[in-house]
Amino acid sequence: MVYAPVPLSLQDSGDSIPEKQFAVGIDLHGTLLDDRWAIRSDLMDPLIGAMDSVLDICNIYVCSGNDLTFIEKYVPTDVRKRFKGYILETGCVLSDGFEEAILVHADDVEDIKKLEKALWREGIPNVRYFARRLATVSMFTRDEKEGTRPEEIFERVKELVRHIGYARKVYVTHSNVAVDIIPVGYDKFTALDYAAKGLGTIGIADSLNDSHLILNATYGFVPRNASPALLQLIGGEGRQTAVMSSSDPTPGEIRISDRESTECVIEVLRYIDENLRH
Ligand SMILES: [Mg+2]
Repeated sequence: MVYAPVPLSLQDSGDSIPEKQFAVGIDLHGTLLDDRWAIRSDLMDPLIGAMDSVLDICNIYVCSGNDLTFIEKYVPTDVRKRFKGYILETGCVLSDGFEEAILVHADDVEDIKKLEKALWREGIPNVRYFARRLATVSMFTRDEKEGTRPEEIFERVKELVRHIGYARKVYVTHSNVAVDIIPVGYDKFTALDYAAKGLGTIGIADSLNDSHLILNATYGFVPRNASPALLQLIGGEGRQTAVMSSSDPTPGEIRISDRESTECVIEVLRYIDENLRH
């Protein structure tokens, strides 16, 4: 359910129909960005070329646990301007690059701010910082140079959330840089599907906080560096996976690339151009 008006520039402008086929959600950490939080300079031109090759049939969205300030800092302008919009804070915020619309009810936002304060007071070891968030909590365990893996504090945070009395209000997940706490009912897929306005959906992502996106999109793609937690979940759901080169794309399938992060994104965009046009 969405409680806030989306930014004007993301409302129906007529360009999503009828020739467009897909809303594509691309995760940042470990997917569009490599483990140094960057797009390698030699991949910039291929990436931009691959994005341009599908813009006639796709609206492309950033689909991240992060916020607008992060995108402005780490995603180069030439790439940014090819996105239709940004799905932020794991589906709780939608942005056109200027405005940020919170999709979560104001009472739930107030609740999550209380939880953030309570967790901050705990002084959890290995949390480097609490990132700026409007409707979620995000505890970074690493930056672009160093730190520990979020998995190391994941269970401890889940236990604290239960202890503080939020077990039914939120779910705890993680990317490869942070443990994120999200109000129940919101995820990257719900926001992408909302933005898609009936178009098919495609997710490209690597971590546990992408599980809804990868499992529910019409087509899901994961890079070689996908987290074991995500792959385990896909397996646990009994979902079929295929390698990129296998033929005949089938809706509902999940393809695993043998390329990492940015290179996987380029490969998938080319795959869409070559195999999913009708
Ligand atoms: Mg990621």
